[in-house]
Formats: sequence, structure tokens, C-alpha cells
Amino acid sequence: MYNDEQGTQTDEGLPDGEFSSLAIDKMGNLIVESFIRELPQDSYNCSSHQGTGSISGNFCYSSPLPEHRYLATPTSWTSDRPPRPKSPWGCLDPYTSEDQDREYVGFATLPNQVHRKSVKKGFEFTLMVVGESGLGKSTLINSLFLTDLYKDRKVLNAEERLAQTVGITKNTVCIEEKGVRLKLNVVDTQGYGDTINNTDSYKCVSDYIDHQFEQYRRDEIGLNRKNIQDNRVHCCLYFISPFGHGLRPLDVECMRALQDKVNIIPIVAKSDGLTYDEVKKKKSRILSEIDKYRLKIYQFPDCDSDEDEEFRRQDMELKRSVPFAVIGSNMVVDVNGRRLRARLYPWGVVEVENPYHSDFVHLRNMLVRTHMQDLKDMTHDTHYESYRAQWLCKSQRTVVGRHTRKRFVLVPMILVNFFFLIDEIILIVLNKLLIE
Ligand code: GDP
Repeated sequence: MYNDEQGTQTDEGLPDGEFSSLAIDKMGNLIVESFIRELPQDSYNCSSHQGTGSISGNFCYSSPLPEHRYLATPTSWTSDRPPRPKSPWGCLDPYTSEDQDREYVGFATLPNQVHRKSVKKGFEFTLMVVGESGLGKSTLINSLFLTDLYKDRKVLNAEERLAQTVGITKNTVCIEEKGVRLKLNVVDTQGYGDTINNTDSYKCVSDYIDHQFEQYRRDEIGLNRKNIQDNRVHCCLYFISPFGHGLRPLDVECMRALQDKVNIIPIVAKSDGLTYDEVKKKKSRILSEIDKYRLKIYQFPDCDSDEDEEFRRQDMELKRSVPFAVIGSNMVVDVNGRRLRARLYPWGVVEVENPYHSDFVHLRNMLVRTHMQDLKDMTHDTHYESYRAQWLCKSQRTVVGRHTRKRFVLVPMILVNFFFLIDEIILIVLNKLLIE
């Protein structure tokens, strides 16, 4: 390699049939033209040397610059452009030449563009589980997402549980399904409701949610707002014990503290311990207590008017299932040749995904298949906006307070100075009078 007079770098000693030289001028631009001109005409056939031109024949140019890579493609091109791989967008392929309809502008492909972009970016979802130990929180999460999120968890004995305070732990797992990536964060509230005095158990949970909002707010006004990590809690599964009568005072207090910060979804845990009638009674009692204490839980959006009959039926069934009476299991059993998640008892098998046995399927459909985006939207548009509004009010009050405090200090100071001035004037006048 040498530098010629114009400061251009070139290569020598090329292998047969291949021209692998690079010429870069001082501005860093590729100069192919002069090389092509200097080569014997029969060794190449060049219709254009500019960006989109084609080169055929024996000539093969290899450039390290990505925008010129296609030039290194073998000589078999027949058209002006390299062959394009088949698009996965089927009939809405924006490049297809099959669509001869003159009325077709092409913005019908917009959803595809959005879809492609979001799939590329991946999805994030943060789920919080609140409830006392042993209610089956971790088993349910593992059953919902077919994963093992709690491999390293240490199960505490009764004495240790009494001694511990509420601790927030976050587990993250990346799941991929048909090319779609989901980063799932599960926030667990270990020790919640386990102590004798649980007065402030929920304070820790509420502070955690606020802290995530605050972090997001700071990131949003920061420099790198394009790559914000969204750790805000999008949904809170609130586990209610199947053994009590409706809600406990702690449940009411906690739900009240969290209702304006997060989407609460009430869950009746371990519902296989209840008969069909007991589940029905418990659900109606919980709902009436939610109503009585004016607690706000996640409200499912209304069905669109253009939805079909089947969708409406499913939506209605989903809404009727609240609070979801669920069963979890980490065991896969063989039932009549079918392998399914279930709980095996001496008197029979309770199937986790059987809608006659529990509301597990409704909960999973709602969380993952139908309402995940709505939960995220609600978090951003309602809960986060309300946090921001509160923060703005608070900061305004601080500024006003500072001004008021300043005013309180300034007015007496001016008055004191004014009296000093009067005092001075009187003294001067008296002095003058005495001298005369
Ligand atoms: P966590 O402390 O709330 O996370 O509870 P775990 O998921 O660790 O479950 C505690 C115990 O309850 C384990 O022995 C589970 O096998 C059991 N368990 C979990 N889900 C259910 C359920 O739906 N029904 C019944 N009967 N037991 C369950």
C-alpha cells in the first residue's frame, strides 16, 4: 500500500479476478471511479459507479464501508439493484410490485411499521405481588409465565418471619415467544403482613412505587431520555387470604394507600381450598367491601362498539371473574394422556388452566394477551401523571413558601431601616438647633 501525490491510499498486487482495493480521499469519500476507468474495458462492465449503480462481469469490489457493501456481491445481478429478500409483511409488503392498484398510496402499511419497530425494541412489564408469605405468590407467577423466577429464594421459618421487616426484591426474566421479547420484572414484597404489628407494612410498598416514579421523572428531564429504563410498577396483584372473611383491615389500608399509584388487581389465593359456593360468596363479599370502603381497583376498559360477539362475551366473562380466584402449581402431571399443570390430591386432580377449577386462565389472558398494554397506558397516563402533578404542586408551594418567607424578613427590615433614618434626621435637626 502506498500514498500517491493526492494523498490517496491505494493497494497493489491484487489476486486474479478480484479487485480488493480501497481508495479514500482526504474527506473520507470513496473514489471508485478512477480505478474503474483505469481498468481494461473487458475486465468489467460498469453501468454506473454512483451509489445505486450496478457492476457486472468479472469485477468484484470489496469495500469496508457498509453503504458500499453491496458492490461486493457476485456478478449474477441482472437488475439495477441487489435482489431483496422476501418481506414478511405479505400482502402489505411496501415494496411489492404486485399491487397495481393506482388508488393504493401505501399508508395501510403504517401499523406494520409500528409493529416492526416495537418488536425490534422489545417489551417491558413490571408486575408487583403483594400478600403475606405462603399465599402462593411465587407459585402463581411461575405458573403464569412458565418460568422459575425464585430459584435462589430462601424460605424463612415462622420465627425468622416474625423478626424480619418488609423487604422489596425484584427479579427479572427475559422471555421470548415467536420472536417477541418480553423483559418481565417481578417485584416481591417479602415479609408483608407477616409481623404482629403490620401498621406500616404497606408504607414500604408505597414508597417503592413512588421511588420508581421519581426515578422516571428525573430520567425524563435528563439528557438521555431516549433510553429511559421504565421500572414503574404497571400492575399490582393483591393476594387476599382464602381463609378469612373478606378483606382484613390491613388489606383495606394497603389498597387505599396504593390505589392512586398503581393498577390493583385483587386475587383470592389458593382457591382450591374453597368449594364453588364459598368462592362465589367470598368474591361477592370482597366486591361489596371494595365498594363500601370506596377502594379503587383496576377498571377494565369498555369494549369497542365494533368488537364481535365472541370478543364481547369473553370480555364480560373476564370482568365477572374479578376478584380472580386462582390456583398455582409448579407440578406438571399426566391426566388421561394430557400433560398439564395441576395439583394432585388423594381425591382427584385440580387443573390450573381449567376454567371450571379456577380463574387462572382469565387472569393470564387479561394480564398477558388482552390488557398488558392498557395497564402500561394507565400507569403512564393516569398514575404517573398524577404523581407528576403532585410533584409540581409541591415544588410550586416550596417556591411560593420561599418567596413568602423572604417577604416576611424583608418588610420588618425595611421598617427598622426607616425608623433608623427618621432617628438620624431628628438627631441632625436637634444638633443644629442646639448649635444655633
Ligand atoms: P409465597 O410465599 O406467597 O410466595 O408462597 P409459595 O408460592 O412459596 O407457596 C407456599 C406453599 O403453598 C407451597 O407449598 C405451594 O406449593 C403452596 N401453594 C401454592 N399455590 C397454591 C394453591 O393454589 N393451592 C394450594 N393448595 N397450595 C398452593
